[in-house]
Amino acid sequence: MLRLGFHGAAHTVTGSRHLLESDGARVLIDAGLFQGLKALRELNWKKPAFRPEKVDRVVLTHTHIDHAGYLPRLVREGFAGPVHCTPGTGELAGLLLMDAAKLQEEDADFANRKGFSKHTPALPLYTSEDAEQAIARLTAADYDVWMPLGDKLQARFKNAGHILGSALVEARVNDGDRTRTLVFSGDVGGYDMLLHPDPTPPPACDALVIESTYGDRLHDKTPLADQIAAPLGRTLERGGVVVIPAFAVGRAQQIVLLLNDMMTSGRLPSVPMHIDSPMAIDATRIYARHLRDHTLDADVVAARLCPPNLQFSRTTDESKRLSALSGPRVIISASGMLSGGRVLHHLAQRLPDERNLLMLVGYQAAGTRGRALLEGAKTLRIHGQDVPVRASFLVAHGLSGHADADGLMRWLRACPSPPRAVFVTHGEPAAAEALAQRIGKETGARTFVPILGATFDLDTILG
Ligand SMILES: [Zn+2]
Repeated sequence: MLRLGFHGAAHTVTGSRHLLESDGARVLIDAGLFQGLKALRELNWKKPAFRPEKVDRVVLTHTHIDHAGYLPRLVREGFAGPVHCTPGTGELAGLLLMDAAKLQEEDADFANRKGFSKHTPALPLYTSEDAEQAIARLTAADYDVWMPLGDKLQARFKNAGHILGSALVEARVNDGDRTRTLVFSGDVGGYDMLLHPDPTPPPACDALVIESTYGDRLHDKTPLADQIAAPLGRTLERGGVVVIPAFAVGRAQQIVLLLNDMMTSGRLPSVPMHIDSPMAIDATRIYARHLRDHTLDADVVAARLCPPNLQFSRTTDESKRLSALSGPRVIISASGMLSGGRVLHHLAQRLPDERNLLMLVGYQAAGTRGRALLEGAKTLRIHGQDVPVRASFLVAHGLSGHADADGLMRWLRACPSPPRAVFVTHGEPAAAEALAQRIGKETGARTFVPILGATFDLDTILG
């Protein structure tokens, strides 16, 4: 018996939860939180269609919340097995799951104070203690090491090049005299990216589960340095401050590498840089420790990640001191979509001054301040004040953690032989359908775009 159930990231990009059932083993690949629209977020509160206490173990592809953020709730719902992950994923999970729990607790607290919850009192989806329980279940295994997951089931991780510790999972099910191989892509990183290696090609397999975040889109190929050299150079030369809102894990470190290289080569004036985010500081240290997973010249990259002109602001006082400093300088802070965090203080202070520059990197979701700016907002509401936007702003492309449609096809074609069945997940419907069609046409594989809750009998499909 071999079955595969899709309990999230089906026709959407969040909530990755794939249940692999074989004789004697029930393994959940990823335990992601649904994020974004309210209808999706409400799914996190519903009991899953499978019974958490009957799941033997979880295998995590990486630590992003849409892949790992349901774990504390899963433990609360009765899951009591080990959670397998790479060492890098394990360390980042300590950071990201505790942060997610804190946000859940703050949301519940806020709802109670404002009295807008249907429930009295409003409860968090999970607490810091639940997150600690989940973190205690993490069991690290290095890339390429086979892990026994049951009598007849084993799996190993291969580097997916998406964020630190990210992996694709190769699972082998030995069913008497027949062995089936299944590959789960997790999130597939782009090629030739800063800081992260190219994704490892998928091993030969019978069935592949592939993400499709950018299944119908192509990234701007203009080198990032060419996009930003002129506007950043002008800002710094006139004594302005460049504010860069960035996701704390991965993105903040890529930006430091890029700017440091441009300053060292003389493409940008050498100015002080600040990372103002405790989580980004911790993530930088974790990155520096695990660089050997990623690159051969680990010591060189570690030095470039923490150059002498980079200063870290960990405490609130250290953060406040930055507002007394004049340009030229660069301030990197979270959150990346301007939806909260310390970056709001910097924006309130720096946006009204036309000498300054705000550089947005990455996707700006509907409803966020980042999106409002893209749509031409002349003021931003921050901490109850309307802040005039006189600083210039720039949107930089090229730091996406995901391969685009061509990148996904390049990765898939690197598979030694095309899989017979491909399940396309982790994409909006149009992106997933477009990628499925392309895969079918270019590789001859039978493709499926599962809906939420669909379970497939692989014995029948694979024959
Ligand atoms: Zn991810």
